[in-house]
Amino acid sequence: MELTADYHTHTLFSDANCTVLEQAESAKAIGLKEIAITDHGFTHIIFGLKRKNAEEYRRKIAEAERATGVRILVGIEENLLGRKGTSDLSEEDLDQFDLFLCGNHVFSHHESWRDWYNGWLGYAAYHFGKRPKGRLFSDMTKAYIETVKRNPVDILTHVNFQCYADAVEIAKCCRDYGTYLEISGKKPHFTDEELSDVAATGVRFVVNSDAHSPDRIGDVAIAEEQIERVGIPHSRIDNIDGRTPRFRLAEVKKRKKEVL
Ligand SMILES: [Zn+2]
Ligand SMILES: [Zn+2]
Repeated sequence: MELTADYHTHTLFSDANCTVLEQAESAKAIGLKEIAITDHGFTHIIFGLKRKNAEEYRRKIAEAERATGVRILVGIEENLLGRKGTSDLSEEDLDQFDLFLCGNHVFSHHESWRDWYNGWLGYAAYHFGKRPKGRLFSDMTKAYIETVKRNPVDILTHVNFQCYADAVEIAKCCRDYGTYLEISGKKPHFTDEELSDVAATGVRFVVNSDAHSPDRIGDVAIAEEQIERVGIPHSRIDNIDGRTPRFRLAEVKKRKKEVL
């Protein structure tokens, strides 16, 4: 399994200690032709990308691309906000980004008090290794599903991180809407059995590093181990072995251009 591109990386613009250029240089050194810089979204309370820095973010990415020759997508890792599936990214915002990731992060804003409560309760359960059942589980599942339905999400990141949800139902929705499910190289978030059931839905995958430092760019060894163990055909993963994915946001933009 050879990684074509790494679509989940962070920099000083959110919670990593490295620059865009350092990440790009690292990608070049290991032979990656393409990466995405995907710092945390505006709604992250502690280290989200600041709107006032968004222009500089895009500029630094363009400079690093020119300096290294590595193609760099301007990405963002948005936060799951709640059961209505809203996103704070307007259409104008989305015009500024190439890649739209979304994941659950406890220190983010939420749509309603119930979603705040779910976020923290889910985090507490996760912290103590408990898989919740009942309303919390179904609310979290609904949040993922409605977000995928309502927004051109390219990749759902680390499903089951900081709160468990029904990964199989989420995968079915991703399959139907053309959203990729991430198999993370940072930490396994699915059990082997779960990943096998998720794969059986027909959803398509990407593998990413979620690198917060240059030495982790392209590091998907943990993901690869699980992929081999579970027996997921490599043909189901769209950012390896020379393939590049067909992303939703890019398709939406293409269609918009055709109409204009
Ligand atoms: Zn994340
Ligand atoms: Zn991340």
